[in-house]
Amino acid sequence: MLGYKIYFNGDKFVADNTATEVQTMPCDSTVSWMANKTYADNVVEKYNANDLKDVKKCKECGKYFWQTNDERIWFTDRNMKAPCRCYSCRKKKH
Ligand SMILES: [Zn+2]
Repeated sequence: MLGYKIYFNGDKFVADNTATEVQTMPCDSTVSWMANKTYADNVVEKYNANDLKDVKKCKECGKYFWQTNDERIWFTDRNMKAPCRCYSCRKKKH
C-alpha cells in the first residue's frame, strides 16, 4: 500500500487507503495521493467544503476534472466560459 487515493466519486470526494500506484496526473485531475491518513482526511474535507462545485464531467471522455487556478484566471480575463472538456481531451484536439 502506497497511501490514500483521493478522488471524486460522482457525488463527493472520498479517500481510499487502497492506492496501489502513484501516477503523474494531468494538471486538472481530481485524483491525488496522500501518504498520511490525517492529511488525506483534511484534504477530502477541504475539497468537499470549497471545491465541490468546481468539479465537472468531461463531455468527451466522462472523466471528472476541474480548472486549475491559472486556467480560471485565464478564462475569466477573456470573459470566456469554463471548458467542458478535460485537459487531455482539449490537448488532443490541437
Ligand atoms: Zn476528457
